Amino acid sequence: MSRTVLVLNSGSSSVKFQLVEPDSGRAVADGIVERIGEESSAATLTYGEREVSRDDPVADHEAALRAVFDLFDEAGADLGTGLVAVGHRVVHGGPDLFHPTLVDDALIASLEELAPLAPLHNPPAVLGIRVARKVLPDLPHVAVFDTAYFHDLPAAAATYAIDRDVAEQWHIRRYGFHGTSHQYVSEQAALFLDVPLSSLSQIVLHLGNGASASAILGGRPVDTSMGLTPMEGLVMGTRSGDIDPGLFVYLWRAAGMGVEEIETMLNKRSGVRGLGGEIDFRVLRERIDSGDEAAHLAYDVYIHRLRKYIGAYLAVLGSADVITFTAGVGENDAVVRRDALSGMGRLGIELDEHLNDSPSHTARRISADTSPTTVLVIPTNEELAIARACLQVI
Ligand code: ADP
Repeated sequence: MSRTVLVLNSGSSSVKFQLVEPDSGRAVADGIVERIGEESSAATLTYGEREVSRDDPVADHEAALRAVFDLFDEAGADLGTGLVAVGHRVVHGGPDLFHPTLVDDALIASLEELAPLAPLHNPPAVLGIRVARKVLPDLPHVAVFDTAYFHDLPAAAATYAIDRDVAEQWHIRRYGFHGTSHQYVSEQAALFLDVPLSSLSQIVLHLGNGASASAILGGRPVDTSMGLTPMEGLVMGTRSGDIDPGLFVYLWRAAGMGVEEIETMLNKRSGVRGLGGEIDFRVLRERIDSGDEAAHLAYDVYIHRLRKYIGAYLAVLGSADVITFTAGVGENDAVVRRDALSGMGRLGIELDEHLNDSPSHTARRISADTSPTTVLVIPTNEELAIARACLQVI
């Protein structure tokens, strides 16, 4: 019997889960419980060819986990045998937590103290950990941090140019997020190219609903687009990415908006949705094609910011051996990839249009043979990376 790890990603109203065989890399089963606490909850699980779902209300995160177990039963999937650990994705590890860490009461207390740094993300993760420990008390639980990979970012990239005392007192630095994905994808790029990771300068573009870019030299990240929180950097599905910090002050002072109102606007009603009314790039494209100017502007702003970061990271690295697209948009949207890199021939980046346009779910090259920079598409697999991180600990 192969050993498995249950990986949980607990959000405020959803729990994503995947049962992973870390040794083979196989995802045995995966699914999501959505709209927790609402009347119209939905839970689905995919196990091989089987998909099972339920839509009865799920009151809270504990009920969500119990619904997951019921789904495993219903699908005839054996969750228990071989299960060696539960891995929890935790967005913010703050200044001190960066190794995958065995969960105990002290760790939970530390995570709770970090809530102000990641108010939207860490409290649901802590809730998920608490509930999972209650429901699966005999297994080791491991927290894996999204910030971990960027812990040793060079000081020049990690430091905000603000009052040093304030920064020190409040642990203000650029932490970076999506680290599990940036690390996994950059390692996969080296494996795909069959060259040592230490020999490569890379740009990784993680373009999902959340989006971030990183510059990686010899296997070590040297810059990344997200900062103190996951709001900085690229334009995202619902987050603004980079803004003038004066905007926050202006809205607070002149428009009389409260802190939470501004936070909600920047996190939930900004980005592509805020400008174009739509988060899903497939629908956004349909709107653009039908002449919707707001959708067009949203797309243009998104691409403009993305190109700025690519240019910035080319300068940070000197040049890039490889640029890799990953996550929902990066893996699937050939037009985004084309528009992100068009006209960069003199920078050494040339796409092969045919390769770029050919859909696939596996790692692939999409640059022309003559392109000095290799451009890849590599599916991210944060769950597998988390599962493997768990094994280092238990
Ligand atoms: P997250 O994990 O941040 O929630 P994902 O990496 O799953 O996000 O990306 C989800 C997004 O990917 C969707 O909102 C959609 O915009 C985009 N996406 C998914 N499939 C496609 C596709 N076939 N073509 C274009 N965009 C897609």
